[in-house]
Amino acid sequence: MLIFKQIKPLQKYLQSADNKGKAIGFVPTMGALHQGHLSLIKRSKKECKLTICSIFVNPTQFNDKTDFDKYPNTIAMDIEMLNDAKCDILFLPSVKEMYPDGFIDSTKINFGFIAETLEGEHRPGHFSGMAQVVEKLLKIVKPDKLYMGQKDFQQQLIVQQLIKKRKLRTQLVTVETMREKNGLAMSSRNVRLDIASRRLAVEIAKTLKGIKSKIKNQKSKIEALEEEGRNKLRSFKEIELEYFEIRNAETLKPVSSKKEKSVALIAAKIGGVRLIDNMLLN
Ligand code: AMP
Repeated sequence: MLIFKQIKPLQKYLQSADNKGKAIGFVPTMGALHQGHLSLIKRSKKECKLTICSIFVNPTQFNDKTDFDKYPNTIAMDIEMLNDAKCDILFLPSVKEMYPDGFIDSTKINFGFIAETLEGEHRPGHFSGMAQVVEKLLKIVKPDKLYMGQKDFQQQLIVQQLIKKRKLRTQLVTVETMREKNGLAMSSRNVRLDIASRRLAVEIAKTLKGIKSKIKNQKSKIEALEEEGRNKLRSFKEIELEYFEIRNAETLKPVSSKKEKSVALIAAKIGGVRLIDNMLLN
């Protein structure tokens, strides 16, 4: 695997006679890689000629400084995992390389409701920082396909809008969430969970599954299911629930009919670690 820390040499390599015209698959990450990330790499390898992974812990998308400071860094292991997965290129830029002129984003996109609700409400500024760095990365790499996880459901909806609004020629591919055997969604933040918190974290996926199995029942109302999910999670005093919502899977607006394509989304803190998960319901 080739490792580039600077933009120019990466672009020169991608535009070289050997690589011109090759379909490029791109997997942006913040590192601390796990099997979930690798499933995106695998999918890209299957569909594209060149697979590029980026590792960049983007300061502008962290609204909580402690979360940024505590974000796990396992770069030596990440490189080993990417080598084993036969990833072609790792892009590993510094903050200075990505933001040579500072963090201010003068061309910020207004995504409207889709970025203001749920995560947008609980992590102000997160999505504008995320969109800022994803746009920069897409302009550097110019991939044919961009691979992102369903795990970050709202993120992939916003990136879809970003691609549309900026008229980029990249196709977004959303990949199903990889889970531990017990259902817990894999996440870089899981390494910060102690044993007790890890055990409790399983309740998030369990609640989502429970709601999914109940939504098919004609009699159960959306609001009642939401309340049931909230009550279940709140019954564990160590789980600090931020939201449990059933929303339209395209607009994230509240669901009024069970005919709408819908998704249940949860954010909760357990042992000081903020976890998110979601499940499509139909
Ligand atoms: P992150 O490093 O957390 O920014 O994630 C990088 C990419 O991996 C994002 O597109 C995530 O949605 C995706 N991802 C994270 N966890 C998982 C998972 N458990 N299964 C599939 N994709 C994931």
